[in-house]
Amino acid sequence: MATAGKNVAPPVASAPQPQKRWSRLRALKRVVQLGAVGAVGYGAYDIYNKRHPAEQKPFDPTKRTIVLLGSGWGAISFLKSLNTDDYNVIVVSPRNYFLFTPLLPSCTVGTIELRSIMEPLRFITRHKSRNVKFYESECTDIDPESKTISIADVSDIKGAVSNTTIPYDYLVVAVGADNQTFGMAGVREYACFLKEVWDAQKIRTRLMDCVESAGFASQTPEEVERLLHMVVVGGGPTGVEYAAELHDFLKDDLEVWYPELADKLKITLVEALPNVLPMFSSQLIQYTESTFKQNKIEVLTKTMVKEVADKEIKVMDANKNMVSIPYGLLVWATGNCPRPLARKLMARLKEGGQNSPRGLLIDEYMRVKGAQDMYAIGDCAFTKYAPTAQVATQQGKYLSRVFDGLARIEEGQNKKIHPFEYTHQGSLAYIGSDRAVADLPFLNGNVSVGGVATYVFWRSVYISHMFSFRNRFLVIGDWMKSKVFGRDVSRE
Ligand code: FAD
Ligand code: NAD
Repeated sequence: MATAGKNVAPPVASAPQPQKRWSRLRALKRVVQLGAVGAVGYGAYDIYNKRHPAEQKPFDPTKRTIVLLGSGWGAISFLKSLNTDDYNVIVVSPRNYFLFTPLLPSCTVGTIELRSIMEPLRFITRHKSRNVKFYESECTDIDPESKTISIADVSDIKGAVSNTTIPYDYLVVAVGADNQTFGMAGVREYACFLKEVWDAQKIRTRLMDCVESAGFASQTPEEVERLLHMVVVGGGPTGVEYAAELHDFLKDDLEVWYPELADKLKITLVEALPNVLPMFSSQLIQYTESTFKQNKIEVLTKTMVKEVADKEIKVMDANKNMVSIPYGLLVWATGNCPRPLARKLMARLKEGGQNSPRGLLIDEYMRVKGAQDMYAIGDCAFTKYAPTAQVATQQGKYLSRVFDGLARIEEGQNKKIHPFEYTHQGSLAYIGSDRAVADLPFLNGNVSVGGVATYVFWRSVYISHMFSFRNRFLVIGDWMKSKVFGRDVSRE
């Protein structure tokens, strides 16, 4: 600090004043320190809170009961936002956890461990103001007439009772969708899907099995070639992201640990349309296809799979010729179709107007067409929106507001319920080699970006969308672990 009486040179007008600069730096340091202390404090508070749930109110027979089917994006977003002071809630799902699907492709090669993207349902239900009942079971039938559902314990271990019927006042159907196979023989038998935890586990195991079998003593060259041919069917985001993760695994790990085999490993992506990622801008489609070309991922567009056998698929290529493609691992990602439960319900409600083969028809308040007190959200419903987590989440949140409105109306308040409005926040996909593509709404238009910076953005978006601090911590830890130590190549 310059003090009066001392012989201090007058400051030059344009030169920076060191004292001011230091004090600014000190202020910035203080802000950073306070921010870090705040973040650690908040993290610790959050962890403590999560591990010490408060007492919950019991079920109240005077309140209406909502039965919620599913524990995915739509169901959890609904449950998290719902005020359980107003309702009793029963959740029915064969999965006792929520799965963060956008990072599932990373689990097929071990960049991220599966448990890092799973959130136990109890971590959510135990924090609601009223006790939420959870039955780990599958809903096998819905009877809209008697307002009851049939449920069955489909897990390996069952008690004396494994089938029963439960009544509902309101039913929220959020059962997601099944894998589309177009009824093609062999798909369910020989291919791997990529939707659930067990799919990612199966892919990871089979991939390493193919690599080890290719390295078996005196393996024939034709078999080495077949076993190391990884074929992905479907050039939507699931197929593209899986091929990208597989490429990274090959480059970062298999080349190190299997130098004699890695250069023989081939990845082929088969897509019926003229290009991959049809929902992205043409600029990003080109960027993805050229990145794949650089990464030696063969993309066969205008090529449709017609037959699936245990060791080969038959495709009709762009010239309408039937060609056989031998494979070691086949990943099937050709989109969604309704689950058997949704199909059964649609058949029951046919007279009421359920006439779409693509899913449950709902109105702009999420009410199932032709049924009373029944709502559907997420991939099980067929709407003008794409079947994405983004849509399911917004529908879930919206539906909790509908129920809030219904509760207020019941109390005699004058409450208006507005129809659902979707806000598109953009599309993102990982394309390998630390690059991602993003189509983002900007002002009244759209920005298309791709590259390494987009990849950093992709990672930060997904981290910020995770439902818990615990999952964020685990995923960041996995990313660091796989960068430092490489991915695990053991076969489980
Ligand atoms: P789901 O999340 O599938 O949940 C359905 C729930 O219903 C599950 O808990 C299931 O166990 C349960 N269930 C099933 N049958 C029954 C039954 N009979 N009775 C009771 N419960 C039942 N979307 C994006 O927006 N961004 C992404 O980056 C993205 N990445 C993805 C990556 C992959 C690999 C996949 C497969 C999908 C991705 N999606 C993404 C799409 C997104 O995951 C789905 O749109 C979303 O999961 C739909 O939510 P949902 O609640 O309808 O269904
Ligand atoms: P999709 O429906 O988006 O794509 C499936 C692709 O398979 C289509 O391009 C189709 O032409 C192709 N196909 C169908 N039959 C074929 C055949 N016989 N032979 C060759 N190709 C065939 O499916 P998806 O990628 O599983 O995605 C499902 C939903 O989940 C979509 O709504 C998607 O947007 C969403 N999702 C989003 C992300 C993301 O945002 N990063 C990631 C994964 C999934």
